[in-house]
Amino acid sequence: MEQRSQELFERAKRRIPGGVNSPVRAFQAVGRTPRFIASAHGDRILDVDQNEYIDYVCSWGPGILGHAYPRVIEKVQEACAQGLTFGAPTEKEVVLAELIAELMPSMQVSRLVNSGTEAVMSAIRAARGFTGRDKIIKFKGCYHGHSDGLLVKAGSAALTTSVPDSAGVPADFTKHTLVASYNDTESVKKLFEAYPQEIAAVIVEPVAANMGVVLPAQGFLSFLRDITRQYGALLIFDEVITGFRLGLGGAQAYYDIQPDLTTLGKIVGGGMPIGAYGGRSDIMQMISPVGPVYQAGTLSGNPIATTAGIETLNILKADPQIYTRLAEKSAQIAQAVKAAAGNRVTVNRIGSLMSIFFTKQPVTDYESAVSADTKQYAAFFGYLLDHGIYTAPSQFEAMFLSDAHTAQDLAKTCEVMTQYFRTFKEA
Ligand SMILES: *Cc1c(COP(=O)(O)O)cnc(C)c1O
Repeated sequence: MEQRSQELFERAKRRIPGGVNSPVRAFQAVGRTPRFIASAHGDRILDVDQNEYIDYVCSWGPGILGHAYPRVIEKVQEACAQGLTFGAPTEKEVVLAELIAELMPSMQVSRLVNSGTEAVMSAIRAARGFTGRDKIIKFKGCYHGHSDGLLVKAGSAALTTSVPDSAGVPADFTKHTLVASYNDTESVKKLFEAYPQEIAAVIVEPVAANMGVVLPAQGFLSFLRDITRQYGALLIFDEVITGFRLGLGGAQAYYDIQPDLTTLGKIVGGGMPIGAYGGRSDIMQMISPVGPVYQAGTLSGNPIATTAGIETLNILKADPQIYTRLAEKSAQIAQAVKAAAGNRVTVNRIGSLMSIFFTKQPVTDYESAVSADTKQYAAFFGYLLDHGIYTAPSQFEAMFLSDAHTAQDLAKTCEVMTQYFRTFKEA
């Protein structure tokens, strides 16, 4: 039954482009009706037709504790009663900035914004202001939000909608964006050799998670660290997904690489809209009002959002074993899929991030990611949905685990997935 979702979707399409406020939600790549969600608790989401699903989207990452985590909700409710926004500094912003600096020591100084997109946009501006250079290097298939200069060979929904790079972005705005191949050190070297004095920064998802999950090859991140230093460019880790997900210290702690600047989003807001960017204090001193790089926000550091962020980070900090549990859960699913599907799929997994690619070849970069068969993924997705399991409606997104996923629900998930691969031998 999806009657009410269907009705809402029809209404939505009249007033909202494609009926959704972010493209991947439209289920376009999988040819199904998007579920309109009524509520969510723990690892379950409930749609407006009363269908319940085990959720592996987790709001695309923020839901690391599961939905409607009681302590977070309680604190948010308390904060709401004190006023929603003041447009003036609050103690909570200081507490969150201190927590970020404690958990991610490379982020000595940080600024809160309202989304990952804003965080990246601002970090790039800071890097350009600091270095006095214009060009940046990004990687094919990495997604850094929807700002003009970064919508070049972007991943995420840009991989499955018909416009891989966006209309409405003047070519002049992206002429300073150079594109290299993920895990391909030669492609980066060539760009630095071509523009030795002009590259302000290299921005990378230290674990790519917007072309499906693609792990950095051994030595790739340390190579980026070295070459940026060598040429006087900055290294920016976009940890909007990996921050507080791969571990408390994010990918930079996991791989022991210190970037100059880091961008955060998703988990740092605990389910509310927050982004953050920060890093070396000499770079962050470039930001207005102390420096010449302008960046501002009416609702930035909003007391409700900072409350959700602080509570979430404190819960993670108090229970770091959560990361072991998360990794075990995703390993359980990965093993079940491998056992049932054999070499029909390639599973990439790290911590609680995972992708099941419908391709036989190893997936190490954009080209190998897009070798995956999106029709087979769509069939798999549809089967899971029909069996009460809600996964990303695109081959090129991650599967997210939360601490709320129960042993019972994980077992059910493994069973349904196993059944799928047994039943559809040709898939
Ligand atoms: C989600 C994401 C962004 C954009 O964040 P929004 O909050 O959606 O603007 C940027 N970078 C990465 C790596 C992301 O996964």
